[in-house]
Amino acid sequence: MRYISTRGAAPVLGFEDVLLAGLARDGGLYVPETWPTLSPEDLRAMRGLSYSEIAVRVMLPFLGGSIAEDDFRAMVEDAYGTFGHRAVTPLVQLDRRTWVLELFHGPTLAFKDVALQLLGRLFDHVLAKRGERVTIVGATSGDTGSAAIEACRDRENVDIVILHPKGRTSEVQRRQMTTVLSSNVHNVALEGTFDDCQDLVKGMFNDTAFRDRVNLSAVNSINWARIMAQIVYYVASAVALGAPDRKLAFVVPTGNFGNVYAAYGAVRMGVPIERLVVGSNSNDILARFFESGAMTARDVMPTLSPSMDIQISSNFERLLFDLLGRDGAAVEAAMRRFRSEGSFAVTDAQLAEALALFSGHRVDEAGTMATIADTARTCAYTVDPHTAVGVASAAASGVDPALPLVVLATAHPAKFPDAVEKATGRRPALPPRLADLYEREERLTVLPNDLATVQAFVTERSRAAGGRA
Ligand SMILES: *Cc1c(COP(=O)(O)O)cnc(C)c1O
Repeated sequence: MRYISTRGAAPVLGFEDVLLAGLARDGGLYVPETWPTLSPEDLRAMRGLSYSEIAVRVMLPFLGGSIAEDDFRAMVEDAYGTFGHRAVTPLVQLDRRTWVLELFHGPTLAFKDVALQLLGRLFDHVLAKRGERVTIVGATSGDTGSAAIEACRDRENVDIVILHPKGRTSEVQRRQMTTVLSSNVHNVALEGTFDDCQDLVKGMFNDTAFRDRVNLSAVNSINWARIMAQIVYYVASAVALGAPDRKLAFVVPTGNFGNVYAAYGAVRMGVPIERLVVGSNSNDILARFFESGAMTARDVMPTLSPSMDIQISSNFERLLFDLLGRDGAAVEAAMRRFRSEGSFAVTDAQLAEALALFSGHRVDEAGTMATIADTARTCAYTVDPHTAVGVASAAASGVDPALPLVVLATAHPAKFPDAVEKATGRRPALPPRLADLYEREERLTVLPNDLATVQAFVTERSRAAGGRA
């Protein structure tokens, strides 16, 4: 299995190099040169299998033989053994034909765990094979930091330093990071804002000598392996609902287009998905694209669904690559225009091709709150604000009523207790395994907003740089 860059000017790589590289050297994103396929017989043979077994069957072709099947199966079973539900990603029925696919049973109660729990183990395995270590550095406003920390904790060849703005994350978010006491996890509470944290991380990546000394890396949202791991739950839920003998549709609350691009991957592999509905909050760059064929950035507005408060959907470039006939130079030109002018457009024919599979919906704040309240009242089921964007988009989507419609639930309602309590009058409880979060010991280091100080802190803790960890 070979991977090519969406901008056509980076080396063609195998799975392990794509995993460790993240972004391609030409600024593009890696995609498979050809998609492996699942025949109707392959899909039928998955009926009744465990999530982990389906995961191995779906992902193995993407590894191209680089990891032995037994080693990979052990990593997959270990990764999904951390989930608090035996089905890993269970389906819950809302009405006659609408289902919720719960992706929030991982350690941090949000869907990013599905990919990151596996990614951490893959990193460790490949680094061990190469005799290398990395230092992962990231900035968080609260949500993604905990998923990255849980993915990397106790990994033999990975140290992780996460910067959060001191006093500016919610207490649940902070505690989900700072109560992980593993010796390779380092939380920095920075005396500054989230933007300051991001600037420091950029500063560290731009300092070549420092980058090499600590073997700096990131677990960012454009890593191919994250997409690969997310394809699995589309296949598993489609099979559970009757694929290949019954078609279905998915509704995906989206920010970065990562989750819904994985659904597109499932389509390319042969899963009979009739329609993909993209749910946006008021930051609706994707909904506007599907209306007009133009991708135009606007200022980011804070909403009740903060993990979708994004105006540049980086993973969209992977779909664009296919819409533009896999012409890397054309993608490069479109992205250059987007950077300089804040906008690019596709032709009517290219838009029509996208609309044959995708449709976009926008849900405002009032619609989000009303959906949380209505779902609690009519289905005895509590959704978080991100999932509510999906449920509201499903209701408005106009998808063929004969098809099962699956809405992806991307966060547990207890991650966003204030919005949920305001909508329903009831404060959602944390699941039992996190119930003692407020009693757990915390460990963090407060640092000033100063690049040299933070770099010294990272170097001292980086085992790649000979630090003590
Ligand atoms: C990250 C995130 C999203 C958006 O996912 P994309 O892959 O960026 O589309 C949606 N909901 C929650 C809760 C998230 O954490």
